[in-house]
Amino acid sequence: MDKVMYDVAIIGSGFGGAASAIMLAKLGHTVALIEKGKHPRFALGESTTPIMSKTIRHLGQKYDIPEFVNLASYDTIMSAHMPITCGPKELFHYFWHEPGLSSATLSNGIVPEIIVQTPEVDTQLYRAESDKYLVDVAISYGADYFEETTVEDIEFNDDGAVIKCSRPDGSASEIKTRFIIDGTGHRSLISQRYDLIVPQEELDTPLNSRSIFTHFKDVGDFESSLECDDAFIGRTPVPRIRGTQHHCFDGGWIWFIPFDNGVTSVGLNLDIDTYPINGKTGEEEFWEIIGRYPIVEKMLKGRETLMPFIKTKRIQFRTKQAVGDRWAMLPGSAVGGDGWFSTGLGFTLLCAHRIVDMLHTKMLKDDDFSRQYLENYETALFKEWKYVCRMVDGIYKSMRHFEVFKYYCFFCFMGAESFVHRGGIKRPHDLKYLLLNVGDDNFVAKFEEFYTMVKDLHGREEATQEQLDYLRDFVRYEMKDYNYRDYGNPIYGGVHRRLDKSSRYFAELA
Ligand SMILES: Cc1cc2nc3c(=O)[nH]c(=O)nc-3n(C[C@H](O)[C@H](O)[C@H](O)COP(=O)(O)OP(=O)(O)OC[C@H]3O[C@@H](n4cnc5c(N)ncnc54)[C@H](O)[C@@H]3O)c2cc1C
Repeated sequence: MDKVMYDVAIIGSGFGGAASAIMLAKLGHTVALIEKGKHPRFALGESTTPIMSKTIRHLGQKYDIPEFVNLASYDTIMSAHMPITCGPKELFHYFWHEPGLSSATLSNGIVPEIIVQTPEVDTQLYRAESDKYLVDVAISYGADYFEETTVEDIEFNDDGAVIKCSRPDGSASEIKTRFIIDGTGHRSLISQRYDLIVPQEELDTPLNSRSIFTHFKDVGDFESSLECDDAFIGRTPVPRIRGTQHHCFDGGWIWFIPFDNGVTSVGLNLDIDTYPINGKTGEEEFWEIIGRYPIVEKMLKGRETLMPFIKTKRIQFRTKQAVGDRWAMLPGSAVGGDGWFSTGLGFTLLCAHRIVDMLHTKMLKDDDFSRQYLENYETALFKEWKYVCRMVDGIYKSMRHFEVFKYYCFFCFMGAESFVHRGGIKRPHDLKYLLLNVGDDNFVAKFEEFYTMVKDLHGREEATQEQLDYLRDFVRYEMKDYNYRDYGNPIYGGVHRRLDKSSRYFAELA
């Protein structure tokens, strides 16, 4: 072992653990990064968002980490020749399917599609490579990396903590540290060790979803897999393949995340109330459901899968605590949400920033690691999880009626955009600035009102024109302070292109 006592030991070298190690090592602290597996390895969380891109750029500038700045967009990853397979992401693309639907033409009137272009070209990340890259960067900044080293137990004492590890050859070792960041993901070591998981029957979220996913090779192109006219093809500002495609249907949705190497990550996500947990294999259930949606089936049928289908149980979970004396969990260890908003990596970085900043400016300096300094962190994390889950629950509930879904999606976009716009990324400890703007009481009150309407409509066969007009006007007028893109204005037909630099959004940017 290189150091007798590390300032910080980070358990788990996924995106969050490795990014935290980079920041702390760059700030001059001694860091142990401990990983039970071996990179490169598969990980979920492959689609980034404007929040993630802007956060990693901000952290790169704040801590002088050029590798972070380069990761902030597809274009810089490409121009810096980073050793990461990725893909351009400049659209959130939502297409709404009914069983048997195989066409979309503009002449039919409403096209069941929403396209929102991102402010810049974000990226799809092939996590096997991006996580390995970040670990290599952490090592280059001085972190000590322990691979194939499983943390079995932790003992806290007055001076710090002793981390007890095992290796595949049966050998055991100990790592001493002043503080621990738990980045071990959904089977968090600390939550198991201290029995911190909230039992499922007591979980305080309405969201109840599960997922089945794999990687495909050479999937079919969306536009070639449906009957459509030129007007449909031409309505998007850039080809749909340059985005994350969300294929939505009543009670579920499918992500398509294309990488430049011909691989596409595909995941089927299901509301458990509509699709109860069952004994089918992931592969059986995947094809059974895909078979109802001819466009998606055509894109996937007969294509090679590169790994077995992984089928989860309910994804949502929460721990009772996210911090303690001498330890803090990254969000992946403390809470589980849903893939819908692709918020995971952005959320992880925002939280890593909060922990790193508090450690650097206060706790390591004062040699005081009591949990009081991280109480705001815990409050922020659980509140963000609560509202992200409620927002995603509304997505599942809105999917019964395309127009309801459309206005609800716009509402959620406003949450993400106003968080960035208000400068939330640069205010790590202020509870008024939280992910998706849920630190803003006025925004939250309006969200609850809108969400209640959506839940009410979910229970009805039809939404009336009057109800739809109300939702549209709510988005357009009631939310105008948050609505930088004129969402809800019918002239856009559900397609919102990148904002002009002269727009109100940029003029008022914090
Ligand atoms: C269905 C689904 C879809 C998602 N889609 C997206 C998306 O599109 N975009 C997005 O941003 N986010 C998405 N997410 C969230 C994303 O997966 C997480 O936010 C992200 O992976 C968290 O990274 P992490 O580094 O915290 O954890 P992980 O990537 O899970 O890494 C944890 C690491 O800890 C190691 N480890 C575990 N136990 C031990 C131990 N005892 N000792 C040592 N090491 C250990 C593991 O081997 C692993 O390498 C999705 C999540 C789900 C469930």
